[in-house]
Amino acid sequence: MISFRLSDEHDQLRLTVAEFARAVVAPVIGGFYERGEFPYGIVAEMGKLGLFGLPFPEEYGGMGGDYFALCLALHELARVDSSVAITLEAAVSLGAMPIYRFGSDQQRGQWLPELCQGERLAAFGLTEPGGGSDIVGGMRTTARLEDGEWVIDGSKAFITNSGTSITSLVTALAITGRSAGRPEISAIIVPSGTPGLTVGPEYSKVGWCASDTRELAFSSCRVPAANLLGEAGRGYAQFLQTLDEGRVAIAAVSAGLAAGCVDECLAYVAERSAFGHRLGHYQAIQFKIADMETRAHGAMLAWYDAAARLVAGQPFKKQAAIAKLTGSEAAMANARDATQIFGGYGFMNEFPVARFYRDAKVLEIGEGTSEVQRMVIARELGISGGS
Ligand SMILES: Cc1cc2nc3c(=O)[nH]c(=O)nc-3n(C[C@H](O)[C@H](O)[C@H](O)COP(=O)(O)OP(=O)(O)OC[C@H]3O[C@@H](n4cnc5c(N)ncnc54)[C@H](O)[C@@H]3O)c2cc1C
Repeated sequence: MISFRLSDEHDQLRLTVAEFARAVVAPVIGGFYERGEFPYGIVAEMGKLGLFGLPFPEEYGGMGGDYFALCLALHELARVDSSVAITLEAAVSLGAMPIYRFGSDQQRGQWLPELCQGERLAAFGLTEPGGGSDIVGGMRTTARLEDGEWVIDGSKAFITNSGTSITSLVTALAITGRSAGRPEISAIIVPSGTPGLTVGPEYSKVGWCASDTRELAFSSCRVPAANLLGEAGRGYAQFLQTLDEGRVAIAAVSAGLAAGCVDECLAYVAERSAFGHRLGHYQAIQFKIADMETRAHGAMLAWYDAAARLVAGQPFKKQAAIAKLTGSEAAMANARDATQIFGGYGFMNEFPVARFYRDAKVLEIGEGTSEVQRMVIARELGISGGS
């Protein structure tokens, strides 16, 4: 039988993170968002709660949980705020996870303990100014071996967590050779502060304003040959796996935002009146919220399915793409409807729904656009090709 009932452990985690988001994040995050400031104190508290170590073994300072647990935490955080959720998502599923999955014992031992504690953050540098969807065609960053060191040249765009004062490294994807006419891509760990690595200023973003996103430039940036992650030429396969997992996590963030819109609207329509009645009295409003809840629930079930398959070691590529597409579209639609229900206040930044509205759009872009998700689903159905 299929069971959608959470284990006691997972449910306890869900409740703990929900309470943390309500008590610690909600009261202050709007100020950080407006100032475009990274919330170091909140991130430190998330670290103490063990959130950055959720899916990693205890020997590295992790919590010994699983990817489903990480997604539950992301869902509950995003229900209140997406900047902190994406900071956790990028730090764990894009930053630390490739080191855990593909790193040597030495690399795991060196980097994972402080990443699992949330004392330091790792970033994943895949996208380049010339292209994110067609990353192989668009990649210009190169690395060549010289005197026992990789010499990296090129640049990366939109890299989350790459410029905080607690960022410890970025895993950069670079072309390290050619094979059968195709670029050979490798992943290389570049510690923060390495000469030749320039971290750009924080972008001015529409949403996720309390998260850190920057451009990186590499100019004759030298790191030891031992900083290669896994084998040379395996970078393409590594980032495909990393992105498949990341899509499940973004789906959980999306479903959380969609559910947060419902939470905010339920509270608002019980208070606000028009034409002699509370807003919740009107069927047009009830139906809008019923549709929002339907989308949020479907989005949640979609990531539950993908994450459960991932944890069970079953194929999950198609389900991850479906969950990401379903979740991001639910988030966009719910944010639009929630803003409408709040009327003029929905357009005021001090209200969480305004933040949700600004944060929702990027969910249809990051870690594979909606078009890319449709390509993946079509390919999985055996109908790829054409344009
Ligand atoms: C806030 C933020 C944080 C991010 N964090 C990271 C990070 O930490 N690490 C990282 O590596 N990247 C990160 N990204 C980059 C993100 O993953 C890319 O923006 C995304 O993959 C899209 O790439 P692009 O922006 O180059 O758009 P493009 O690839 O140029 O696409 C432009 C448009 O064309 C469409 N398109 C492209 N090809 C096709 C096709 N064949 N058929 C139909 N439509 C097509 C796309 O769907 C899109 O609508 C981040 C982005 C943002 C905005």
